[in-house]
Amino acid sequence: MGRIYLSPPHMGTEERALLLEAFDSNWIAPLGPQVDRFEAELARYVGLEHATALSSGTAGLHLALLLLGVGAGDKIVTSTLTFAATVNAIAYVGAEPVFVDVEPETWTLDPDGLVEALDTLEADGTPARAVITVDLYGQLCNYARIEVTCQRRNVPLIEDAAEALGSFVGDRSAGTFGDMGIFSFNGNKIITTSGGGMLVSRHGLHTDRARFLATQARDPAPHYQHSTIGYNYRLSNLLAAVGRGQLRVLEERVAARRRVRRFYQEALSDLPGLTFLDDPPGVRSNAWLTTLRIDPEAFGTDRESVRLHLEADDIESRPVWKPMHLQPVFGSCPSFGGSISEALFRDGLCLPSGSSLSEPDLQRIVSRFRSTPR
Ligand SMILES: *Cc1c(COP(=O)(O)O)cnc(C)c1O
Repeated sequence: MGRIYLSPPHMGTEERALLLEAFDSNWIAPLGPQVDRFEAELARYVGLEHATALSSGTAGLHLALLLLGVGAGDKIVTSTLTFAATVNAIAYVGAEPVFVDVEPETWTLDPDGLVEALDTLEADGTPARAVITVDLYGQLCNYARIEVTCQRRNVPLIEDAAEALGSFVGDRSAGTFGDMGIFSFNGNKIITTSGGGMLVSRHGLHTDRARFLATQARDPAPHYQHSTIGYNYRLSNLLAAVGRGQLRVLEERVAARRRVRRFYQEALSDLPGLTFLDDPPGVRSNAWLTTLRIDPEAFGTDRESVRLHLEADDIESRPVWKPMHLQPVFGSCPSFGGSISEALFRDGLCLPSGSSLSEPDLQRIVSRFRSTPR
């Protein structure tokens, strides 16, 4: 019995063929026909016209902030419950993160907390320059409210959908709610290019400018001419080929991860004190990671005992993200609320959720979970 990982890569049959095709074409560069097609195919999947392929999701967040002209001292409101990449990008442009707690139902940015943060910043004479929402574990934020809040105040919205490719509310895809959205194809995400990202937008001006900045900001000229600082953030043509193959099986990957979540929910339903993160009505999340809260009083032991018990049988699980307002590097930044995200960090667990998990793997995880001493 081998180790069971949290969210390992899952390649289909076409990725290898597309990769070799790209290799044999000698387009071994951070541009080429596979990149162009990957952009067009991803844009079509999410229902937008424009996408720019990048070397990472973090690069996408960095460029999105640059495109909005965010700079030194600007305030950016974001969810405290996220992966550090969201906030690192804010630091790259010299801006200051302002953290807001999450709502208990979706574990995403609390719309009331957002209003409070925006009002307070406005009253202090330092209005927010942008909001970054995070579709945590594939769960979409409450955009019905957040979009209106941002539009009324004229604050641009960037959607960190790194974890949420394949999530929809009605026919609207993750990544399409803000002025710009970003996706990640890191090795642990629902589809992967080993490393990569995408910036999507309704506005071709944004994605064109992102492509320009990501390619060392070369002015149109036969020689090398530069009037702006640029970056080396483009996606390799080889990796784009892998991404195209992965995109073809994305719907299968979503279905598999949703089956994994359903399996856990059913197999553990008789145990007290467990609350799974699940979709609100009308939402189809990609169920990137199955996550749950373990109430130590009701369950009889805490999250960490379960995690260590799984680990002792070579089953990888992880605590929920540690809130950014508790991180040593961001601890001095302003923060609104925080008790929900702190409780989720204390009691939350991510279970192995890979789309390649077999029925025997799932049985093994569940019986190990159930055998935790309580
Ligand atoms: C993975 C992730 C990122 C960063 O994506 P990379 O491609 O690894 O740079 C950003 N935000 C969130 C919420 C993520 O999970």
